[in-house]
Amino acid sequence: MAQSSNGSKNPSAARSGTGAEPRIVIIGAGPTGLGAGYRLKELGYTNFAIFDRHPYIGGLAHSFVDPRGFTWDIGGHVMFSHYTYYDACFDRLMGDEFTLNNRESWVRMFDRWVPYPFQNNIRYLPAPVAYECLSGLIKAQTGRGKVASAAAAANFGEFIDAVFGEGIARHFMRPYNFKVWAHEPEMMNKHWIGERVAVIDIDRALKNVMLGSDDFGWGPNNQFKFPLRGGTGEFYARFDRVLGHAKDGGHLHLNARVESIDVDAKAVRFADGSVEPYDVLISAMPLDVLTREVLRGGVPDEIRRAASRLLHSSGYMVGIGLRSRAPGAGTPDTKSWMYFPEANCPFYRVTYLSNYSPHMTPDKDNYYSLLCEVSESAYKPTPGREGRDVDAVVEACVTGLENAGLLEPGERANIVSRWCYYADYSYPTPSVDRDDVLSTVVPWLEARDIYSRGRFGMWKYEVSNTDHTLMQGVELVNRLLLDEPETTIGMVYSSTQDGRQAATHERSAVAGSGEKRRPAGAGILPGTGDVGPRIVVRTAARPGGATSRVGDVEEADIAEEELGVTRPRG
Ligand SMILES: Cc1cc2nc3c(=O)[nH]c(=O)nc-3n(C[C@H](O)[C@H](O)[C@H](O)COP(=O)(O)OP(=O)(O)OC[C@H]3O[C@@H](n4cnc5c(N)ncnc54)[C@H](O)[C@@H]3O)c2cc1C
Repeated sequence: MAQSSNGSKNPSAARSGTGAEPRIVIIGAGPTGLGAGYRLKELGYTNFAIFDRHPYIGGLAHSFVDPRGFTWDIGGHVMFSHYTYYDACFDRLMGDEFTLNNRESWVRMFDRWVPYPFQNNIRYLPAPVAYECLSGLIKAQTGRGKVASAAAAANFGEFIDAVFGEGIARHFMRPYNFKVWAHEPEMMNKHWIGERVAVIDIDRALKNVMLGSDDFGWGPNNQFKFPLRGGTGEFYARFDRVLGHAKDGGHLHLNARVESIDVDAKAVRFADGSVEPYDVLISAMPLDVLTREVLRGGVPDEIRRAASRLLHSSGYMVGIGLRSRAPGAGTPDTKSWMYFPEANCPFYRVTYLSNYSPHMTPDKDNYYSLLCEVSESAYKPTPGREGRDVDAVVEACVTGLENAGLLEPGERANIVSRWCYYADYSYPTPSVDRDDVLSTVVPWLEARDIYSRGRFGMWKYEVSNTDHTLMQGVELVNRLLLDEPETTIGMVYSSTQDGRQAATHERSAVAGSGEKRRPAGAGILPGTGDVGPRIVVRTAARPGGATSRVGDVEEADIAEEELGVTRPRG
């Protein structure tokens, strides 16, 4: 049952303003909500409660153990932190209970494995394809491609053509990105790419082909931590040690589905009929759902309509648990994860999850596990979409694993577990008009003391990994209590002359983009009801380009590499 953490279900009794601390209600016990709660606790703030519809915490970063004893994440989760705060949090909760893994990623094309990053290993492709890719790359980068320059590109599709050229676009970038995003790249903006895009070094690409050099993106500098036991979710599960469950007097309320929020009365109503008043609301539920379906009271149609324009994709996470090919052999090879641009399999990515820790299967010597990710949207239906036929998707994945050379003939007989999780909201699409929507909706909410943050709360894919989202929660609390600006979501969009570093992360002077809006020292005063200023979406060219980056830790490399091509280190 959803009750306020002070035990009261009576709005007027719990209504804050009567006590010293305004009441902070947090919807969502995923990394964003947990980060916010963790920071509140750390600052000694007590008048807050976190509610989640699920019986567990962690949100999309939760892990499950299936009946056969395999541990599964909701898609391959790789932790690359950008923040010392996040690292300290991990150290505090996990101690030395983690593994350190080399990141070893590959692309499956033309019945072979091409090492990652793709553009540096073109020599692995059949010769005519390698020629097409190189020739297209050279044309694109010398202004002779289909699209004159990245700066001239109107969307992500044109950006691909401008930066990578026709060959790489046709064989890898376009098919791969459609598989990931379930939206045509022309529907997406080019700004989200930001620092993720590879600065293509033509000379390097050429040299590797001519001299037959290998140029892999992994090595000692490219490692990632993973919880020793319990999968990705173990780290987030441990936040209950800090936050405590409501039944024991703590802050976490599970099985508490929010049904409606009255913006005028400032009260949240739950599925069980209970009501929780708030002074400040932090929400990590999808922004479109919040605005379109959950908010009640004086919500202008313009706001609801704007939020309805946000696009997202859904995803099937399909876990295949297998007996090892040879007894005692464990996982058959050392790959971390693999990308699949071709049409012979439904997934865009497969993770060798059993390589991340020896405890992901019932017995490391005799089992291994593969985790496939399949996207879905109205533009990209999956098998049996009408009735959401999970079995059909799982079966298509098994066939796809065979087609892609991951399962040998006859090896399907070794499958001992088939697991599937359907995420209705999997990827927030950085659509062409996303920033326009955010600049309308987010300030309107904030003027009513509703702070929407997180992967689908802020809808900024570019800052929606676990470290970013946890820090969105932390930074929001710092803003509310300490009057510090948020920096992770504080993003100003700008294009460099060549358009390659298109999104910069920096403080902006307006509400909704992370900057403090309230007077210094004002802390969490109730909102004025004004519609705040809009987020400025800048697209003008800036001489010298962007320099600032999100977080305070040098990026190890990108974590969730939907773009498919990254800059290797070194
Ligand atoms: C396929 C996939 C791969 C990923 N890979 C990586 C990776 O490699 N590395 C990485 O760092 N991150 C990765 N992520 C991102 C990571 O999972 C997210 O950053 C993180 O989970 C987002 O946290 P959040 O709290 O913003 O949102 P969520 O985790 O979505 O949490 C939101 C919470 O709100 C709750 N909620 C929603 N509606 C209601 C309601 N009406 N009432 C009550 N509660 C509600 C939900 O139950 C949920 O628990 C990946 C995500 C996906 C889907």
